Amino acid sequence: PGDKGLAWRSNWSSDSAGSWESLYRVVLLGDPGVGKTSLVNLFAGVPERDVPEPLGEDTYERTLSVDDEETTLLVMDTWEPAPRAQDEENRSHNCCLQVGNAYIIVYSVTDRGSFESASELRIQLRRTRQSENIPIILVGNKTDLVRRREVSVEEGRACAVVFDCKFIETSAALQHNVAELFEGVVRQLRLRRDGSEA
Ligand code: GDP
Repeated sequence: PGDKGLAWRSNWSSDSAGSWESLYRVVLLGDPGVGKTSLVNLFAGVPERDVPEPLGEDTYERTLSVDDEETTLLVMDTWEPAPRAQDEENRSHNCCLQVGNAYIIVYSVTDRGSFESASELRIQLRRTRQSENIPIILVGNKTDLVRRREVSVEEGRACAVVFDCKFIETSAALQHNVAELFEGVVRQLRLRRDGSEA
Protein backbone atom coordinates (compact mmCIF):
# COMPACT_ATOMS: atom_id res chain seq x y z
CA PRO A 1 0.00 0.00 0.00
CA GLY A 2 1.79 3.04 -1.30
CA ASP A 3 2.01 6.64 -0.29
CA LYS A 4 -1.03 7.75 -2.25
CA GLY A 5 -1.74 10.42 0.29
CA LEU A 6 1.54 12.14 -0.40
CA ALA A 7 1.56 11.71 -4.13
CA TRP A 8 -0.25 14.93 -4.91
CA ARG A 9 2.64 17.31 -5.46
CA SER A 10 2.76 20.26 -7.78
CA ASN A 11 4.68 19.91 -10.99
CA TRP A 12 4.52 23.57 -11.89
CA SER A 13 6.86 24.68 -9.17
CA SER A 14 9.82 22.48 -9.92
CA ASP A 15 12.88 24.57 -10.72
CA SER A 16 15.42 24.01 -13.46
CA ALA A 17 17.62 21.94 -11.21
CA GLY A 18 14.74 19.53 -10.92
CA SER A 19 14.24 19.90 -7.21
CA TRP A 20 10.61 19.92 -6.19
CA GLU A 21 8.83 22.26 -3.96
CA SER A 22 6.36 20.24 -1.96
CA LEU A 23 2.71 21.15 -2.10
CA TYR A 24 0.24 19.48 0.17
CA ARG A 25 -3.51 19.64 0.58
CA VAL A 26 -4.65 20.16 4.13
CA VAL A 27 -8.33 19.77 4.98
CA LEU A 28 -9.98 21.30 8.03
CA LEU A 29 -12.78 19.29 9.61
CA GLY A 30 -15.05 20.01 12.55
CA ASP A 31 -18.45 21.20 13.66
CA PRO A 32 -19.74 24.61 12.55
CA GLY A 33 -18.65 27.45 14.78
CA VAL A 34 -15.53 25.85 16.26
CA GLY A 35 -13.23 28.32 14.51
CA LYS A 36 -12.05 26.63 11.31
CA THR A 37 -12.45 29.74 9.18
CA SER A 38 -10.79 31.91 11.81
CA LEU A 39 -7.79 29.57 11.95
CA VAL A 40 -7.44 29.36 8.18
CA ASN A 41 -7.71 33.13 7.83
CA LEU A 42 -4.86 33.56 10.28
CA PHE A 43 -2.86 31.01 8.34
CA ALA A 44 -3.47 32.89 5.13
CA GLY A 45 -2.85 36.24 6.76
CA VAL A 46 -6.18 37.49 5.52
CA PRO A 47 -7.26 40.88 6.80
CA GLU A 48 -11.04 40.96 7.04
CA ARG A 49 -12.46 39.09 4.06
CA ASP A 50 -9.83 39.70 1.39
CA VAL A 51 -8.77 36.56 -0.35
CA PRO A 52 -5.06 36.50 -1.18
CA GLU A 53 -5.09 33.96 -3.99
CA PRO A 54 -8.17 33.36 -6.11
CA LEU A 55 -8.00 29.62 -5.71
CA GLY A 56 -11.62 29.05 -4.98
CA GLU A 57 -13.95 30.13 -2.29
CA ASP A 58 -12.52 28.39 0.72
CA THR A 59 -9.03 27.36 -0.27
CA TYR A 60 -5.93 29.21 0.78
CA GLU A 61 -2.37 28.69 -0.32
CA ARG A 62 0.71 29.76 1.52
CA THR A 63 4.34 28.77 1.50
CA LEU A 64 5.82 28.30 4.94
CA SER A 65 9.47 28.20 5.78
CA VAL A 66 9.89 25.64 8.51
CA ASP A 67 13.30 24.45 9.70
CA ASP A 68 14.95 26.23 6.74
CA GLU A 69 12.86 24.41 4.15
CA GLU A 70 9.89 25.73 2.21
CA THR A 71 6.63 23.87 1.98
CA THR A 72 3.41 25.04 0.40
CA LEU A 73 0.14 24.19 2.06
CA LEU A 74 -3.16 24.38 0.24
CA VAL A 75 -5.63 24.63 3.10
CA MET A 76 -9.24 23.76 2.38
CA ASP A 77 -12.00 25.06 4.61
CA THR A 78 -14.83 23.41 2.71
CA TRP A 79 -16.32 21.16 5.33
CA GLU A 80 -20.11 21.40 5.49
CA PRO A 81 -22.26 19.92 8.19
CA ALA A 82 -24.00 16.80 6.93
CA PRO A 83 -27.59 17.05 5.80
CA ARG A 84 -29.91 14.57 7.41
CA ALA A 85 -30.12 12.22 4.48
CA GLN A 86 -27.56 9.43 4.70
CA ASP A 87 -26.73 9.38 1.01
CA GLU A 88 -26.00 13.06 0.92
CA GLU A 89 -23.94 12.75 4.02
CA ASN A 90 -21.76 10.08 2.54
CA ARG A 91 -21.29 11.93 -0.70
CA SER A 92 -20.19 15.32 0.63
CA HIS A 93 -18.14 13.90 3.45
CA ASN A 94 -16.29 11.31 1.46
CA CYS A 95 -15.05 13.97 -0.91
CA CYS A 96 -13.34 15.93 1.85
CA LEU A 97 -12.15 12.77 3.50
CA GLN A 98 -10.44 11.61 0.34
CA VAL A 99 -8.54 14.62 -0.96
CA GLY A 100 -6.40 15.60 2.00
CA ASN A 101 -2.72 14.90 2.43
CA ALA A 102 -3.20 15.95 6.04
CA TYR A 103 -6.17 16.74 8.28
CA ILE A 104 -6.83 19.26 10.99
CA ILE A 105 -9.79 18.19 13.13
CA VAL A 106 -11.01 21.17 15.13
CA TYR A 107 -13.27 21.28 18.16
CA SER A 108 -14.03 24.09 20.55
CA VAL A 109 -12.94 23.61 24.16
CA THR A 110 -16.18 25.41 25.07
CA ASP A 111 -18.38 22.85 23.31
CA ARG A 112 -18.33 19.21 24.37
CA GLY A 113 -20.56 18.25 21.45
CA SER A 114 -17.89 19.45 19.04
CA PHE A 115 -15.30 17.35 20.90
CA GLU A 116 -17.48 14.29 20.42
CA SER A 117 -17.90 15.15 16.73
CA ALA A 118 -14.12 15.33 16.44
CA SER A 119 -13.85 11.73 17.60
CA GLU A 120 -16.48 10.66 15.11
CA LEU A 121 -14.63 12.45 12.33
CA ARG A 122 -11.42 10.72 13.30
CA ILE A 123 -13.17 7.35 13.10
CA GLN A 124 -14.70 8.20 9.72
CA LEU A 125 -11.32 9.29 8.43
CA ARG A 126 -9.69 6.11 9.60
CA ARG A 127 -12.37 4.10 7.85
CA THR A 128 -12.05 6.05 4.59
CA ARG A 129 -8.25 6.17 4.43
CA GLN A 130 -7.53 2.88 6.14
CA SER A 131 -4.22 1.87 4.72
CA GLU A 132 -2.68 5.33 4.64
CA ASN A 133 -0.57 6.92 7.27
CA ILE A 134 -1.93 10.47 6.95
CA PRO A 135 -1.02 13.16 9.46
CA ILE A 136 -3.96 14.18 11.62
CA ILE A 137 -3.85 17.01 14.13
CA LEU A 138 -6.56 17.33 16.76
CA VAL A 139 -7.09 20.97 17.68
CA GLY A 140 -8.89 22.33 20.73
CA ASN A 141 -9.67 25.94 19.82
CA LYS A 142 -11.03 28.92 21.83
CA THR A 143 -8.75 28.47 24.84
CA ASP A 144 -9.20 32.18 25.57
CA LEU A 145 -12.76 31.49 26.74
CA VAL A 146 -11.47 30.17 30.05
CA ARG A 147 -14.69 30.31 32.01
CA ARG A 148 -16.69 28.59 29.30
CA ARG A 149 -14.31 25.65 28.95
CA GLU A 150 -16.07 22.26 28.85
CA VAL A 151 -13.21 20.06 27.63
CA SER A 152 -9.99 19.94 29.62
CA VAL A 153 -6.55 19.88 28.03
CA GLU A 154 -6.02 16.42 29.56
CA GLU A 155 -9.12 15.07 27.82
CA GLY A 156 -7.97 16.49 24.51
CA ARG A 157 -4.53 14.99 24.92
CA ALA A 158 -5.92 11.61 25.95
CA CYS A 159 -8.24 11.57 22.95
CA ALA A 160 -5.30 12.25 20.64
CA VAL A 161 -3.39 9.35 22.18
CA VAL A 162 -6.33 6.99 21.70
CA PHE A 163 -6.81 8.12 18.12
CA ASP A 164 -3.13 8.20 17.31
CA CYS A 165 -2.90 11.80 16.21
CA LYS A 166 -1.10 14.98 17.25
CA PHE A 167 -2.73 17.47 19.58
CA ILE A 168 -2.57 21.21 20.13
CA GLU A 169 -4.78 23.80 21.80
CA THR A 170 -5.19 27.14 20.06
CA SER A 171 -6.92 30.46 20.35
CA ALA A 172 -7.69 32.04 17.02
CA ALA A 173 -8.93 35.12 18.91
CA LEU A 174 -5.57 35.61 20.64
CA GLN A 175 -3.59 34.17 17.70
CA HIS A 176 -2.13 31.70 20.16
CA ASN A 177 -0.47 28.54 18.81
CA VAL A 178 -1.87 29.07 15.30
CA ALA A 179 1.52 29.34 13.59
CA GLU A 180 2.66 26.35 15.66
CA LEU A 181 -0.33 24.37 14.43
CA PHE A 182 0.51 24.84 10.75
CA GLU A 183 4.23 24.32 11.33
CA GLY A 184 3.31 21.07 13.07
CA VAL A 185 1.34 20.00 10.01
CA VAL A 186 4.39 20.66 7.82
CA ARG A 187 6.67 18.66 10.13
CA GLN A 188 4.24 15.75 10.20
CA LEU A 189 4.04 15.73 6.39
CA ARG A 190 7.83 15.77 6.12
CA LEU A 191 8.20 12.91 8.57
CA ARG A 192 6.01 10.78 6.32
CA ARG A 193 7.75 11.98 3.17
CA ASP A 194 11.21 11.26 4.51
CA GLY A 195 10.02 7.94 5.88
CA SER A 196 8.55 6.82 2.56
CA GLU A 197 11.41 8.08 0.40
CA ALA A 198 14.21 6.81 2.58
P1 GDP B 1 -16.22 27.71 11.63
O1 GDP B 1 -17.70 27.61 11.42
O2 GDP B 1 -15.66 26.46 12.23
O3 GDP B 1 -15.47 28.12 10.40
O4 GDP B 1 -16.00 28.84 12.75
P2 GDP B 1 -15.63 30.39 12.57
O5 GDP B 1 -14.17 30.55 12.29
O6 GDP B 1 -16.60 31.00 11.63
O7 GDP B 1 -15.88 30.90 14.05
C1 GDP B 1 -17.14 30.87 14.66
C2 GDP B 1 -17.22 31.97 15.71
O8 GDP B 1 -16.29 31.71 16.77
C3 GDP B 1 -16.86 33.34 15.17
O9 GDP B 1 -17.69 34.29 15.79
C4 GDP B 1 -15.41 33.52 15.60
O10 GDP B 1 -15.10 34.88 15.77
C5 GDP B 1 -15.39 32.79 16.92
N1 GDP B 1 -14.07 32.24 17.23
C6 GDP B 1 -13.28 31.49 16.43
N2 GDP B 1 -12.14 31.15 17.07
C7 GDP B 1 -12.20 31.70 18.30
C8 GDP B 1 -11.33 31.72 19.44
O11 GDP B 1 -10.23 31.16 19.45
N3 GDP B 1 -11.78 32.38 20.54
C9 GDP B 1 -12.97 33.03 20.59
N4 GDP B 1 -13.29 33.65 21.70
N5 GDP B 1 -13.80 33.04 19.53
C10 GDP B 1 -13.44 32.39 18.41
